Amino acid sequence: MTEEHLMLQDSLRTFVDREIRPHSERWRKQGVVDRELWTKAGDAGFLGAAIPEAYGGSGGDYGHESVICLELARSGDPSWGWAIQSIVAHYVMAYGTEEQKDRWLPGLGTGNLIPAIAMTEPGTGSDLQAVQTKAEKVGDHYVINGAKTFITNGQLSNLVVVVAKTNPSQRAKGISLIMVETDGAEGFRRGRNLEKIGMKGQDTSELFFEDVRVPTANLLGGIEGSGFYQLMQELAWERLQIALSAIGACDVMMQETLQYVKDRKAFGKRIFDFQNTRFKLAECKTKLEVSRAFTSECVRKLLAGNLDAATASMAKWWCAQAQCEIADECLQLFGGYGYMAEYPIARLFADARVQQIYGGTREIMKELIARSLDDGPTR
Ligand SMILES: Cc1cc2nc3c(=O)[nH]c(=O)nc-3n(C[C@H](O)[C@H](O)[C@H](O)COP(=O)(O)OP(=O)(O)OC[C@H]3O[C@@H](n4cnc5c(N)ncnc54)[C@H](O)[C@@H]3O)c2cc1C
Repeated sequence: MTEEHLMLQDSLRTFVDREIRPHSERWRKQGVVDRELWTKAGDAGFLGAAIPEAYGGSGGDYGHESVICLELARSGDPSWGWAIQSIVAHYVMAYGTEEQKDRWLPGLGTGNLIPAIAMTEPGTGSDLQAVQTKAEKVGDHYVINGAKTFITNGQLSNLVVVVAKTNPSQRAKGISLIMVETDGAEGFRRGRNLEKIGMKGQDTSELFFEDVRVPTANLLGGIEGSGFYQLMQELAWERLQIALSAIGACDVMMQETLQYVKDRKAFGKRIFDFQNTRFKLAECKTKLEVSRAFTSECVRKLLAGNLDAATASMAKWWCAQAQCEIADECLQLFGGYGYMAEYPIARLFADARVQQIYGGTREIMKELIARSLDDGPTR
């Protein structure tokens, strides 16, 4: 952490105290954050951390974004889909044409453009190459038809990165990323805001595209069939975000649990004084610090431009699993109160589970790691 990172962390903590914590419960009830959160975050500089100054951002890098990601998770409220904004900004920075960067980066930085990434479909998730959504070229437009589901920021988004087949006879090579500006887009429809077992304040939606016409200028990077490659290149950061958010959530869980077991008494002593409690918390703390060390190493690799897919998958799988294990152990130490929704540990437990599913399931992570063992050296 540099001086600059510490200042960023500090200002984000103030932002969380003012703009997130007081609204968390209401967001959980309404199933979505307020639209204004995005513009307030934009004004405070938390959306354009890695966007170059020439496009209205702060000109930082993954280091700044890692600080934001970790600190947001430490708020204990995962409602805000900030992570998607960061990923989409990176897509545009890495692959957008000059015209596309001029068009979308400033809005992404101010929060006037709220992004979503629409890969998953009712019939396919892990097997991304099998998506059915089609983008057919008709003159200087694409006509998009398809259905997406489980889309984060689905209810509020107005810039959707749609993963579609521009050549349905191909698998990976037929995939393109089409940027759909949804304000006033005919044929675009938002479906249900899906009810989940956790992350209640984050909107997760179905999206429908029925003959949605989009100019060909909205094809990210301008070359058909590049979509799968573009997605894969940016997945390392997405997976690292999940690892970082797991660590932030574990920090909160440990803090909450330590407080509780030191206050609560049974059989004439603190819950903390039972050897079982001490050993369980020692195990959790060790798991957390080992995860933190590996993830920090991954952030360093990402900044140096050499974080490979298998290593990012290790961080994602390991940290998400550690988060779920720590959530379970911590909840247990709360006894019956751990099962009560009004206790943060109950929510953190429910929020944790999805970390082993989205951004690539734990099984897919293991598959990617195993593939690198098949291709690489034997020691
Ligand atoms: C809260 C939430 C938010 C999400 N946000 C987004 C979003 O913003 N954008 C988006 O596009 N998607 C999003 N998703 C979707 C998410 O990425 C997918 O759910 C995930 O990739 C798994 O796909 P699936 O649900 O279709 O499961 P499936 O692919 O059907 O998998 C079912 C089971 O089979 C296993 N499996 C599949 N293939 C293999 C294999 N080769 N080897 C071993 N096991 C395998 C899986 O690991 C899993 O256990 C979100 C999901 C959730 C729950």
